[in-house]
Amino acid sequence: MADIASIISRQRQFYYLGHTRDISFRLNQLKILQRAVIEKENQILEALYADLKKSPYEAYLTEAGLVREEIRFYIKHLAKWARPRRVKTPFYHLPSSSYIYPEPYGVVLIISPWNYPYQLAFTPLVAAIAAGNCAVIKPSEFSAHTSEVLAGIVKSCFDPGFVSVVTGGVETSSALLKEKFDSIFFTGSTNVGKIVMSAASNHLTPVTLELGGKSPCIVESDADIKLAAKRIVSGKFINAGQTCIAPDYILVKQSVKDELIAGIKNYIELFFGKDPKNSKEYPRIISRNHFDRLVRLTQGASVVCGGDFDPSQLYFAPTLLTDVDWTHPVMQEEIFGPILPVIEYNWLTDAILTIKEHPKPLALYVFTGNSDTAEMVLKQISFGGGCVNDTLVHFANPYIPFGGVGASGMGSYHGKPGFDAFTHYKGVMKSSFLMDFPFRYPPFFRHVNLLKKVIR
Ligand code: NAD
Repeated sequence: MADIASIISRQRQFYYLGHTRDISFRLNQLKILQRAVIEKENQILEALYADLKKSPYEAYLTEAGLVREEIRFYIKHLAKWARPRRVKTPFYHLPSSSYIYPEPYGVVLIISPWNYPYQLAFTPLVAAIAAGNCAVIKPSEFSAHTSEVLAGIVKSCFDPGFVSVVTGGVETSSALLKEKFDSIFFTGSTNVGKIVMSAASNHLTPVTLELGGKSPCIVESDADIKLAAKRIVSGKFINAGQTCIAPDYILVKQSVKDELIAGIKNYIELFFGKDPKNSKEYPRIISRNHFDRLVRLTQGASVVCGGDFDPSQLYFAPTLLTDVDWTHPVMQEEIFGPILPVIEYNWLTDAILTIKEHPKPLALYVFTGNSDTAEMVLKQISFGGGCVNDTLVHFANPYIPFGGVGASGMGSYHGKPGFDAFTHYKGVMKSSFLMDFPFRYPPFFRHVNLLKKVIR
């Protein structure tokens, strides 16, 4: 295992030198990273293929392209976000002036998962660098090819005192979590999120937790059912369903259930062919453990489409299930694979209530032709983020925060919220020696009436 204590001590020393406080240093580091990720793009795409059989197009669309775009966005906006800002001062504090100073936390830890192993490690890194932190990244042990490329890029770009990658499994992660960091950014499962938060509490380290959960997809009868089916298939089966914000299950109005199922079957075939096993664009399941878990989840349900698998290739077909209720195993945990249960409802209010009775989801999708219906869903259900009449696309928008709520996480990132996640905002008032009002000093009883007039 890497010498974690010495990596962190080196980062602390680097941080105390103060280089990272300088905006031009941060911009320069982002530009170095930008050049490297463009130069090494083929290596990244090859590693993603080796780990998950992601096609180069999918890997670019959902990983490499997003990282490129995030770096570009940060380079453009960083100077504005990082400068101290003057804000209003209440009249009773005049002639003081008030400011907010953004300052980096210091040395931060980024722990990332295997499903989008490149962008879920580098997108937070971009934010951490932009906010002026030093960073240690611990990528997932299950996406080893990508982790190796990440480590190579970081080594070629940065002083290890500034950014380091530490590879390894749970024991490495646990060893890192024993150390004191100034902030921890964790992406992964809700269960491990609890372990991370508990470890962070020993040092009172602030955490951003990007977790998982069961993300519902509601389809109302007034939706464009064909387009809904198309967008659901695209959002569910990209990366073979191993996407934290993939629609986990569908709640469909009973009257359009058959039409929706027919549409979904149609688009699965159009996108991946009659036998998706032969498609060059259909990824594989990350590990045998994960694969076996998915096989178990389909047992006892009616398979209306797919359902076949091949352990030798870790291939699991896009699979549609019906006749499941909340007592079925597939509805009791996050699926995180290409299995899509379809549950019907008669009244939207019942569907809303069902979702509210379960942990707050990371994403929610609602398909409807009626904007009032959409607003009702958005206002009544608490969830991390989502879309009306689409799936996943909110992830690729740097103008809105991305993150969970409740069991699906805390804190957010992407664009400015990412900068905020790695920044402490220091409030400062600057007073002058010009005036010095007597009523702020004891003995106070003489000023009570005056104070009551001023602050009513
Ligand atoms: P995971 O929680 O098993 O692992 C994530 C990271 O934590 C890995 O680097 C792993 O090495 C480390 N880890 C695992 N067990 C640990 C332990 N006991 N102590 C300390 N560290 C530990 O998650 P995963 O299987 O890699 O990814 C799948 C999960 O991540 C799903 O639940 C998915 O929804 C979630 N996810 C969330 C987002 C998001 O943006 N919210 C994105 C991708 C994945």
